[in-house]
Amino acid sequence: MTMFFVEIVEGCRLPVLRKNQEHEDEWPLAEILSVKEVSGRKLFYVHYIDFNKRLDEWVTADRLDMKKLQFPKKEAKTPTKNGLPTSRPSSPEREVVSVYCTTKCLSQLNLRIILVENAGQKRKVEPVPLATQVSPATPVPSLPSSQQNGTARRLIPAQPGRKRKANCGGTDEDSQDSSDGIPSAPRMTGSLVSDRSHDDIVTRMKNIECIELGRHRLKPWYFSPYPQELTALPILYLCEFCLKYLKSLKCLQRHLTKCNLRHPPGNEIYRKGTISFFEIDGRKNKNYSQNLCLLAKCFLDHKTLYYDTDPFLFYVMTEYDSKGFHIVGYFSKEKESTEDYNVACILTLPPYQRRGYGKLLIEFSYELSKVEGKTGTPEKPLSDLGLLSYRSYWSQTILEILMDLKPDNGERPQITINEISEITSVKKEDVISTLQYLNLINYYKGQYILTLSEDIVDGHERAMQKRHSRIDPKCLHFTPKDWSKRGKW
Ligand SMILES: [Zn+2]
Repeated sequence: MTMFFVEIVEGCRLPVLRKNQEHEDEWPLAEILSVKEVSGRKLFYVHYIDFNKRLDEWVTADRLDMKKLQFPKKEAKTPTKNGLPTSRPSSPEREVVSVYCTTKCLSQLNLRIILVENAGQKRKVEPVPLATQVSPATPVPSLPSSQQNGTARRLIPAQPGRKRKANCGGTDEDSQDSSDGIPSAPRMTGSLVSDRSHDDIVTRMKNIECIELGRHRLKPWYFSPYPQELTALPILYLCEFCLKYLKSLKCLQRHLTKCNLRHPPGNEIYRKGTISFFEIDGRKNKNYSQNLCLLAKCFLDHKTLYYDTDPFLFYVMTEYDSKGFHIVGYFSKEKESTEDYNVACILTLPPYQRRGYGKLLIEFSYELSKVEGKTGTPEKPLSDLGLLSYRSYWSQTILEILMDLKPDNGERPQITINEISEITSVKKEDVISTLQYLNLINYYKGQYILTLSEDIVDGHERAMQKRHSRIDPKCLHFTPKDWSKRGKW
């Protein structure tokens, strides 16, 4: 038997044993992102090349197929010449989860590390036979291809020295102070390390093992810049109402004796049944907003944390029981958007995913736009999962309108793209892209017609039966503010 002594270093690629969804062994190619030694045993942090980053994990050496080891190519491991890390597209996922995130909010804020990967969605388009016909009066412009195809983008890290203090003081909040032995500010990612390649590796690795939030234990999917000394803990404890992070159960219990919150701060602007929405001003409730961002980052790959929460409003959806209003998900929104953005980042927490809450969040964001008398759109680029959620929401919303149209004096019903947009507050471009995605638009004898096949109608009716929970506009108590006239945020 021949023994090989090869050192596996960061950047090496080789097949790694993992279990697939059917719990069968498979050996996908993976990249070694980090190596550590625990009690004399080496552990390797691997990223499976064609899988989402959330599946990255620490593995033992016996799971590595050393026979097929590839050493890193020089340029693969080191940063590019302008100091920015190299990009790596992740594969689009098949499942629909309510995660959506964007980059624009990041570029305006002083952020450190930003890794943005936008996976495009492809869908096979099948011809649809003519059935119902609706004529849009406006012509249908073609969409820029960039909306369909994902592009990997990088944003430039902020200048060093422009660090913001997490706790600005003078607020009425329970500040994240040092009484629990936890530093006052979350770590500015990468500010403690000198070279960007290290930065990149650090932020590519999940750093929090587990978060306890109320009765849930959450397994983070991605890096989040919680203070470094907390990343070694087996469990990070969060107060489920103010989202303050604590290093032990004892600290949490002590905190709970002082923390009187049983709901998010801010105003409750919607309640129906057990579902409520709270509007939180990122300037007035800075600690809460920052803690929310830290938690959200654990499940969002496409954005990084913003420390400057002032320009944003946060809409937190909760479910009520006798213990209080429990956070289910949220979306953030710029107070002033020149580009009609009505959502910046949106997330349903994992324990609540695949239960229709994501669509409820999206629906709520459009109800706000309706009250504002505007059309809105989520910030681009959409994440792969976000695009799926939005596609589904847009499709159902538009089909609902088309199917409600009544024939006009025996004539085929007519509606314009503009009218659909006005009724739904969905921005015109998104209406058009959805009609194209559903393959409803046909050009027939000099005009555009929409054709709804039986398949489409049946599929829609089945989907709507599953949407038992809807936003009821009568339960929304919301007065939009004109932030531009306020002089300050
Ligand atoms: Zn608390």
